[in-house]
Amino acid sequence: MISVGAWLAAHDDLDRLDRDVLLERAAGLSRAQILTRPEAALEAGAAERLNAWAGRRRSGEPLAYILGSREFWSLELTVSPAVLVPRPETELLVEVGLEFMDGRAGQTIAALELGTGSGAVAIALAREARFRAVDLRLTATDVSPAALQIAAANARHHHTAIDFRHSDWWQEVRGRFALILSNPPYVRDADVHLDALQHEPRLALAGGADGLNAIRTIIAGAAARLETGGLLALEHGWDQAGAVQKLLEAAGFRHVASRADLAGVDRVTVGYLAAS
Ligand code: GLN
Repeated sequence: MISVGAWLAAHDDLDRLDRDVLLERAAGLSRAQILTRPEAALEAGAAERLNAWAGRRRSGEPLAYILGSREFWSLELTVSPAVLVPRPETELLVEVGLEFMDGRAGQTIAALELGTGSGAVAIALAREARFRAVDLRLTATDVSPAALQIAAANARHHHTAIDFRHSDWWQEVRGRFALILSNPPYVRDADVHLDALQHEPRLALAGGADGLNAIRTIIAGAAARLETGGLLALEHGWDQAGAVQKLLEAAGFRHVASRADLAGVDRVTVGYLAAS
């Protein structure tokens, strides 16, 4: 029999917050119980589960995969190794989408998310649109059928109607949209950072030699799918804002600008399609 306090001490190489979350989930304890009753004994089953989870966490597996879920925009989302773990900085993409909806209550807006993964961005936007009485018609794509399954389950769970399409970027996309968003893979193939992300799908992370392959593909096809005056919003790496701005300007986009995430890093770059 091991106590809560002894288990915490035995795994003190792991982040305290991670240990607390694992304890909450494996032993059904509240934060307060963990803090105030370290002498409480863990049941054998819970201790066994905890040790297995601690081992996975130690090997670098994201907590979200161990628990099978992750919070994004205050929404609990199911995740698996088939999808990128939703990141806090990606909430900026949602904010940019919300600003686009500002002042459009009662209107219908066709929107597209390319490479939806867990569905995080599309689902957050669909929920927010409802609160704002915007009739947002969302299409979301992914090249991974396994990711689409997760996204569709998340969308159902959060009572949102999203038209999911299996598509390699623009391949199966039809029609025109007022708003197109994407958090594409943008990490450079040789980036050492990729090793630390080995548990997540490389497809969702690696963006070629300069990290901009997917971004170039998206920008190249966007004009054909955007309505006049429509907005394209792209998440990118910490040092890619200048390059993405240039690509957008070269493709004829107007009012190109970058937006900083909560860490102060230029993380999303937007451009508007002008009348040709
Ligand atoms: N922000 C992620 C990371 O660097 C990358 C996500 C992506 O490539 N879209 O951990």
